[in-house]
Amino acid sequence: MKVLVAVKRVVDHNVKVRVKSDGSGVDVANVKMAMNPFDEIAVEEAVRLKESGAASEVVVVSCGAMACQETLRTAMALGADRAILVHTDAELQPLAVAKLLKALADWEQPRLIITGKQAIDDDCNQTGQMLAALLDWPQATFASRLVIEGDQACVSREVDGGLETLALALPALVTTDLRLNEPRYATLPNIMKAKKRPLDIVTPVELGVDVAPRLKVLGMAEPAGRGAGVMVPDVATLLDKLRQEAQVI
Ligand code: AMP
Repeated sequence: MKVLVAVKRVVDHNVKVRVKSDGSGVDVANVKMAMNPFDEIAVEEAVRLKESGAASEVVVVSCGAMACQETLRTAMALGADRAILVHTDAELQPLAVAKLLKALADWEQPRLIITGKQAIDDDCNQTGQMLAALLDWPQATFASRLVIEGDQACVSREVDGGLETLALALPALVTTDLRLNEPRYATLPNIMKAKKRPLDIVTPVELGVDVAPRLKVLGMAEPAGRGAGVMVPDVATLLDKLRQEAQVI
């Protein structure tokens, strides 16, 4: 069983992002980038499937600038067998990424595709769902457990007040949630080995996909700063302030 995993290069989750002064977007110049955390979980899950014998090959895909090769090398250091970069310097929105991944899936014919539930930069939470729709495959989003049983994937999802378990006929698409697994760290020997693994580069034109944005970002702003707190002498004053000033009770 071949597993295709989508990995996005995003601003490292430890970095405090800054909005550009003209409000047109986030400033990513000279900012540390990393693999989207949910995609690390997706890679880890695919590699575990391979280690358990359920998967035969793990192919990682990233869409974006040449620098995404770094993210793909990291994925291969974590255990992916080979990588594909869909190279474009154009701004990519989830529908465009889903179309690119659909074209690659038609070519690669994986039995399972794993994506993150959302990219921490745009927080869209759309690509996996759109991709499943374009492929007309069953999907299980926000997976916290994944087991392959013959021609089925059994996926548990955390829902309000409990767990939902779904059985999907393969080929299928799964998006990862935080509790699916704890990704491993890449070891130095594996980082070295990953440098020699195959990494193909294709373009949206070669895949026959129009990646023109469908949405226009009108503006972006940082959240308003929080005001300083005040000490209140007693509970009565606190209740009074909550009633009169904050008007929350
Ligand atoms: P989003 O819909 O943007 O929140 O992204 C959800 C998931 O889709 C991510 O966790 C990735 O697995 C995948 N994805 C989104 N954008 C890209 C990209 N440019 N390259 C590869 N995978 C992507």
